[in-house]
Amino acid sequence: MKYAIVIPDGAADRPAEALGGRTPFEVARLPHMDRIAAEGRLGTAQTVPPGMAPGSDVAILSVLGYDAVKCYTGRAPLEAAAQGIQCRPDDWLFRCNLVTVADGVMVDYSAGHIKTQEAEVLIRALEEQFGSDTLRFYPGVGYRHLLVSRGETFKVRTTPPHDILGQRVRKHLPKGKGAPRLQELMDGSRQVLENHPVNRIRRDLGENPASQIWLWGQGQRPSLTPFRKQWGLGGAVITAVDLVRGIARLIGWDVIDVPGATGYYDTDYTGKGRAAIEALRDHDLVVVHVEATDEAGHNGAAREKIKALESIDRLIVGPLLQALEQTGQPWRILVVPDHETPLAIRTHERKPVPFAMMGAGLEPGRGNRPMTEADARKTGMHVAVGHELIEYFLRR
Ligand SMILES: [Zn+2]
Repeated sequence: MKYAIVIPDGAADRPAEALGGRTPFEVARLPHMDRIAAEGRLGTAQTVPPGMAPGSDVAILSVLGYDAVKCYTGRAPLEAAAQGIQCRPDDWLFRCNLVTVADGVMVDYSAGHIKTQEAEVLIRALEEQFGSDTLRFYPGVGYRHLLVSRGETFKVRTTPPHDILGQRVRKHLPKGKGAPRLQELMDGSRQVLENHPVNRIRRDLGENPASQIWLWGQGQRPSLTPFRKQWGLGGAVITAVDLVRGIARLIGWDVIDVPGATGYYDTDYTGKGRAAIEALRDHDLVVVHVEATDEAGHNGAAREKIKALESIDRLIVGPLLQALEQTGQPWRILVVPDHETPLAIRTHERKPVPFAMMGAGLEPGRGNRPMTEADARKTGMHVAVGHELIEYFLRR
């Protein structure tokens, strides 16, 4: 059996004023997803477990069959896995943003979307000042970097910098065991970065300087049962996003890079569709993850969200269906957004998401309709424990 899963990130939505009270799924022309919904099973799934933040990391772990309540340890360890950073089980990993704090206020969580090259110089300067056998900075992409601490114990609460824009940082500093150490590094970074030539140039150009680092998203390496051990199936993922890449590495999947995959509206949908079809040849299960729908949600961009959904349907789901039908062996396909990113609120939501699946042995449910949030709710098929959806998809 061959399996394909398509995840349009954050695509689920609510009736939007800009769309005359309809959702992007309702407005978009999605003949292939609608066919899957009509000829297979349509329902809803609670991908974000109660009490957990509705991040893509948590929701995608769920979609892939992992109980985030038990195995989610933080964002940084997943990103470290994506970058191939070797660490020990008791190392602590932190996301290390370059941010702009001015007069004690978080002005910019991305230091003006600082370029990778400039950021790398700054991270190296920090490594020179603070790096040791037990503390290492790893430069990443743009403003997103990592810090690994060995031999120390942390039991801290930290705050994502994008959640406190315009607020005084004093109220949101790390709290708990190990917090003073983090505070020391964040304070210390100010001295290293303040008058660094990179920042002097940024100020001259009117760009936000990287005034300090902000540590958050911490955790230790999660222990995830290899997917093959759990299901006897080998998998591959196609994504432009580090979090998803990291999860894939940790569960033993191949990560397939598509040169034109950007994680934004301009991503190469056709290339991703082709790569998925190619990967199906030597993998049992292929996941295609597309970030553009989530970005459109964050930007409140209704038209872009609809366009992205239609591109996913036409250039990924359609060709995948066709290729699966031509393999001459049994197959199944599942389309499921990881979470909602409603246009109206421009951030993630924890409500159940619609899903549609079809293929061998999945007889159509009664009263199936197109793939929309409302139609999915009406079928009454609801997977309350999100990580059990994959069991239904693979085993039923
Ligand atoms: Zn997401």
